[in-house]
Amino acid sequence: MNANEIIEIENKHTSGVYAKQTLAIVRGQGASLFDADGVEYLDCSSGHGVANLGHAHPKVAEAIYKQASTLITLFESFPNDKRAELMKKITSLVDGLDRVFLCNSGTESVEAALKFARISTGRKNIIAAMRAFHGRTYGSLSATFNKKYREGFEPLVPGFGHVAYNNIEALDKAVNEETAAVILEVVQGEGGVYPASAEYIQAARRICDERGALLIVDEIQTGFGRTGKMFAIQHFDVTPDMLTCAKSLAGGVPMGAVLIGHAIENLAPGMHGSTFGGNPLSCAAAVAALGVIEEENLPHQAEVKGVYLMGKLKRIESPNIREVRGLGLMIGIEMKQKAAPYIKALQEKKIIALNAGMTVIRLLPPLVISYEQIDHLVEALTEVLNGCVTDERMETGVVNGYGADKRIKADE
Ligand SMILES: *Cc1c(COP(=O)(O)O)cnc(C)c1O
Repeated sequence: MNANEIIEIENKHTSGVYAKQTLAIVRGQGASLFDADGVEYLDCSSGHGVANLGHAHPKVAEAIYKQASTLITLFESFPNDKRAELMKKITSLVDGLDRVFLCNSGTESVEAALKFARISTGRKNIIAAMRAFHGRTYGSLSATFNKKYREGFEPLVPGFGHVAYNNIEALDKAVNEETAAVILEVVQGEGGVYPASAEYIQAARRICDERGALLIVDEIQTGFGRTGKMFAIQHFDVTPDMLTCAKSLAGGVPMGAVLIGHAIENLAPGMHGSTFGGNPLSCAAAVAALGVIEEENLPHQAEVKGVYLMGKLKRIESPNIREVRGLGLMIGIEMKQKAAPYIKALQEKKIIALNAGMTVIRLLPPLVISYEQIDHLVEALTEVLNGCVTDERMETGVVNGYGADKRIKADE
């Protein structure tokens, strides 16, 4: 199939919930993606933070092949060698979180954490943050803030409230004896790349402890080395009660997980579960992926490359930039105008970037991106950020599937 055929078929049969690009991608290697004509693109999106190891990592590919020809599926009631290996490995990553629930996506891990919080505490209420993104199924959508994702889908799940992010006082006022859990991203991703302050995360821990509420951190986007540590919470010396993860966990194969601390009680057989959860194929991919993260020291790579890239971005002199912020290789460039035209201009220069809300260009490159590729990215960005964008491009409202959201206000 050539590019036009691929695009035509998808446009004809798509559900309609994605803003389709005019680019058909058929192959990836490291930080590069290749279209149907063999043209190379530098991937600074990693599939929204999935491809931390780069695309088609040979160790993950080999593990998938081997496991696929051994055993693909097995319900979690039957123990399995690969699942046991993964459970041992993943629960060694954060001190104090030594149980795990395995599922298949980010939103599922959030759903599980929310259910566990209610059953464990016997309380109903969940406090989330303004600008938060936790997923699109009903529980996680109820924790998600932006109207764009929620409107038209009501009624949502009762018991959810939202408070200003990075605001200790607001959290202090909101959490009480009826709060089952506080759920927070350590760096808000979809909401515009806003890192939490250490004080905020530490205060969240203290406030939850004081009132008997649980602290859930959503590390679906920040996990597995992205911010310079295995998990972003590890920058702050805080242990959450539950940690949700997914995206990069299994090197690109669908998988989610909730890491569970000692405070979680009352989890009993039959209460929750997942047909595909903990299947040996995903487990084998995850074991391989976690091995690669360690062998290649990807958290360290993200840290030093993040400092390098951030330094260069901060030196770009453009009247169009409002702020550059982020942690590790999770970086947002907030523009004074819409981000979409800049992202489109980057794509014309064969660089794939993301938006985060209306005005933020978001960079989530694979952590294996080379310094040459980073330099190339900075060069292209410098040209694009200083160039004038045509009026026609300024009208482009939606990029890379998540869409630019008029309703996200910078300081909500
Ligand atoms: C992507 C994301 C989710 C949802 O994950 P899915 O696998 O798309 O369901 C939830 N929370 C955060 C912080 C995310 O970045």
